[in-house]
Amino acid sequence: MKNILIIEDEKAIAELERDYLESYGFTVHIEGRGDIGLQKALDGGYDLIILDVMLPKMDGFEICRQIRQSTNIPVLMVTAKKEDIDKIRGLGLGADDYMTKPFSPSELVARVKAHLARYERLTANNNERGEHIRIRGLFIDKLSRRVMIHEKEAMLTSKEYELVLLLASHPNRVFEKEELFERIWGLESNGDAATVTVHIRRLREKIEHDPSKPQYIETIWGVGYRFKV
Ligand code: CA
Repeated sequence: MKNILIIEDEKAIAELERDYLESYGFTVHIEGRGDIGLQKALDGGYDLIILDVMLPKMDGFEICRQIRQSTNIPVLMVTAKKEDIDKIRGLGLGADDYMTKPFSPSELVARVKAHLARYERLTANNNERGEHIRIRGLFIDKLSRRVMIHEKEAMLTSKEYELVLLLASHPNRVFEKEELFERIWGLESNGDAATVTVHIRRLREKIEHDPSKPQYIETIWGVGYRFKV
């Protein structure tokens, strides 16, 4: 039984979504206020979140940003305004998908199922003891600190390894360059965010088939990087 949280202030829409999802066996909770919705999402216990953009107290953009700081569960954003789509993409909020209203309930159910299945595959691939991570062609063995790309070892420096490990451990989460620098280089170095840029470039040369079209580490312009799922 999967639990879905709908954060939506238009009651009729929320109830339509709920009724449809319930008829497919999902358990659904509705919250109409943005700030309370965020709190519920952060409290956990949900497998997927359907998130409206325009909400009282706190908008969907901010909610999505804050959810992504602590969890990778699928977030489907819903909006009545087509202009919001560019913003959802451009801000690098980490939303997994988006739909514009009005949409058909069957379309919603199809997407919910697809994202739940994808997320399950992702978490199942990362074994229980967390000794390794496999995301598509990339394999990280934490015990030996080795990284394989399509079964061939990528010879990474210690910092490159730590970078890819941190990003791949939180797929879809956007990291600001400053945060990456702080977490990996810490106080031991005088560098800055530019250090991160240089290391990401070298890392891509080692793990990406075409570093100019990265399949793993995506640049979120003006913000930082994320590991694509
Ligand atoms: Ca709304």
